[in-house]
Amino acid sequence: MSSPALVWLRDDLRLDDQPAIAAAADRSALFVYVYDDASPGLRPLGGASRWWLAKSLAALRHEIAARGGRLDILRGPAGELIPELARGAGASHVYWTRRYGAAEIEIDKGVKAALADAGIAAKSFNGQLLREPWEVRTEAGGAFQVFTAFWRRHRALGAYAAPLRAPERLHAARWPSEAPRRVSLEDLALTPLKPDWSGGLAETWRPGEEGARARLDRFVSEALEDYAEARDRPDGRNTSMLSPHLRFGEISPRRVAAAIEAARGDAEGAADKYLAELGWREFSYSLLYDFPDLAKRAWRARFENFAYREDRAGLRAWARGRTGYPLVDAGMRELWATGYMHNRVRMIAASFLIKHLLIDWRRGESWFWDTLCDADPANNAASWQWVAGSGADAAPYFRIFNPVLQGQRFDPEGAYVRRWIPELARLEAAHIHSPWLAPSDALARAGVTIGRTYPEPIVDHAFARRRALEKLAAIKA
Ligand code: FAD
Repeated sequence: MSSPALVWLRDDLRLDDQPAIAAAADRSALFVYVYDDASPGLRPLGGASRWWLAKSLAALRHEIAARGGRLDILRGPAGELIPELARGAGASHVYWTRRYGAAEIEIDKGVKAALADAGIAAKSFNGQLLREPWEVRTEAGGAFQVFTAFWRRHRALGAYAAPLRAPERLHAARWPSEAPRRVSLEDLALTPLKPDWSGGLAETWRPGEEGARARLDRFVSEALEDYAEARDRPDGRNTSMLSPHLRFGEISPRRVAAAIEAARGDAEGAADKYLAELGWREFSYSLLYDFPDLAKRAWRARFENFAYREDRAGLRAWARGRTGYPLVDAGMRELWATGYMHNRVRMIAASFLIKHLLIDWRRGESWFWDTLCDADPANNAASWQWVAGSGADAAPYFRIFNPVLQGQRFDPEGAYVRRWIPELARLEAAHIHSPWLAPSDALARAGVTIGRTYPEPIVDHAFARRRALEKLAAIKA
């Protein structure tokens, strides 16, 4: 009997366009996920991501089993478990999809070396990005620091590889007797029990490959055409909501890009705009690859000297959606309830924390890391640094979003605010983004008492703006 292959699954929990699984499709194979809470340097998953992972693994286990394979789970340091399992199984090959964080790359290098010592071939694939970070380089061979130049080069490199089809059959290899101990999904205790806060997540999402595909199909048929104009509006279903599916690799960016290209037709501008958003994801991964401390240190070093304030009450009000600014609060409550927040609202909520409250962007990044289903090592850190002004190609430091004007512009009827802040639901649109300025009869009609049913603004916008500009100007100087 020929030796089996070992497929080590990580952030690539799918069968479609999955080169590591395709490589093992015509032979017997072990399919393994390692829940690694033991290797140094790996960032523990946040609560929402743990919830997602549990559902995603269950979905993948089902799909693999339906094709004749079997997904097993190990817990511990992957750098030891994978070589041990490969040796025990007498595997000839180990396949995996590449990752781009420094700790992950270190682990993979160690596994590769241990496998080589044992005479086992290791082969890694790109399944997470449209192009590898090292493929998109300046003329001088360096990393791009500006998105437009990065993206121009990315596009100029030609068409993306066509996505692979999911294998119809898989062949489960027998679990070897000399092998690390398997655990069950339940052993990992990834889903919250006491209290179980995941109700809103379960109502919003269907983790797994099928859910990802359904989101893509819906987006292409219902929302792509208007994407360029409508994507900034949080009051409708105007974006794809593919981010957590991409984060866990339940759908490949190549599959998404191919579907967008196929639908290009008369949605030319929308298709380009959407692909450029995938481009920001590529750019963020390229930044992470070149600057592994992206979530820990300012990409522009001088921002490390910024004197952020300690403001526990402010941080708590922000996290709970009780700042008194309805658009910020609606976003933070959407996040808490669903594990998601619309992109424009993320920018405004993040800007509020950093610039209105002068709280360190890392505090916000951590909160998002814990609460977002799409919490992503590259996109989250890069986006927070973008808002802080400390990142590559970041928002200019003097851009301080006015949450009232942003609300009036992007949620003009207040539908988004009404949805997430029920205590303001009956307030007229004219006042919904600045309830503290509403005349008392309008407040009375809506049953709103500022300071009692809904908070007063925790900081005055004009004051906060001046304060932030002064502090930020000092850094620039
Ligand atoms: P669409 O508009 O449908 O975009 C399609 C895909 O493009 C997204 O799924 C995502 O993979 C990618 N994308 C879109 N915008 C960006 C962007 N600005 N940067 C990088 N990739 C992008 N995105 C995450 O995936 N994970 C995060 O942890 C994350 N944290 C963020 C934190 C802040 C403070 C901000 C301002 C943005 C953050 N984003 C993050 C980027 C963006 O908000 C989300 O990707 C987007 O809202 C997801 O919704 P969607 O899938 O409907 O997006």
